[in-house]
Amino acid sequence: MTSPPRGLLLDMDGVLYHGDHPLPGAREFLDATARLPRVFVTNNPIRPPAEVAAKLRSLGLGEIPEKAILTSGVAAARWLAARNPGFRFFAVGADGLHRELVRFGVEDAETADFVVVGEGPGLDYETLTHGLRLLLNGARLISTNPDATVDAVREGEHWVLPGGGALVAPFEVGSGQRAITIGKPEPLLYEMALELVGLPAAECIMIGDRPDTDIAGAQRVGMASALVRTGRFAPGHAWPGRLPPPEWDVQDLHELLAQWRRRWPDLF
Ligand SMILES: [Mg+2]
Repeated sequence: MTSPPRGLLLDMDGVLYHGDHPLPGAREFLDATARLPRVFVTNNPIRPPAEVAAKLRSLGLGEIPEKAILTSGVAAARWLAARNPGFRFFAVGADGLHRELVRFGVEDAETADFVVVGEGPGLDYETLTHGLRLLLNGARLISTNPDATVDAVREGEHWVLPGGGALVAPFEVGSGQRAITIGKPEPLLYEMALELVGLPAAECIMIGDRPDTDIAGAQRVGMASALVRTGRFAPGHAWPGRLPPPEWDVQDLHELLAQWRRRWPDLF
């Protein structure tokens, strides 16, 4: 990428913060890029945008408008609404996912046309049984995000929690259906984010901490990308051979901003 970016897509967890701690250079980077249209994209469907914005504010990361935050839950709801206005669904996932879906659709466990499985609590034997019944009767399976696992902080300790991919797997196995996946690295979340910034992929840069989702997804839609090694992928880890490397591979946002300032001194 030789010309400067006109818009940015940013992952949040592992890029801007981890648990309740802002990551190095996050505030400085957000301030320096505030003139560009930006969309904050996350595979995590648990928190609605208002709560994400409140979290960013509480961490001292500034005022990010709710409409600039695209979660896989919001994207799933909008995607379904665009194709099936008033869609009927059965959701398995956290409260935030249910709340986002009912803004556009009707939650109806008996007549649902879609079984939407999202990351977070909600899966048990009964919900799996009910979801399978719907799927075997013709409902379509939708997955908010394909992550096998996700990182979390619980009482100050690092935990690995099941991701959306681990939670949708029993529905896929039981029904024989392959879920339609909304989140990264599938193109849908990127395409919706690009609509929000109003720019083509070639004029934007995606910034993320995971090669398998953030970077792989950007490459699939033809977008340049930057890996910050403040999340899942630590400094010193060798780049996975199956993926082309991203355009930038840096320790943190502080280093990324320094590199961009050298390259495009007029912009940042
Ligand atoms: Mg992340």
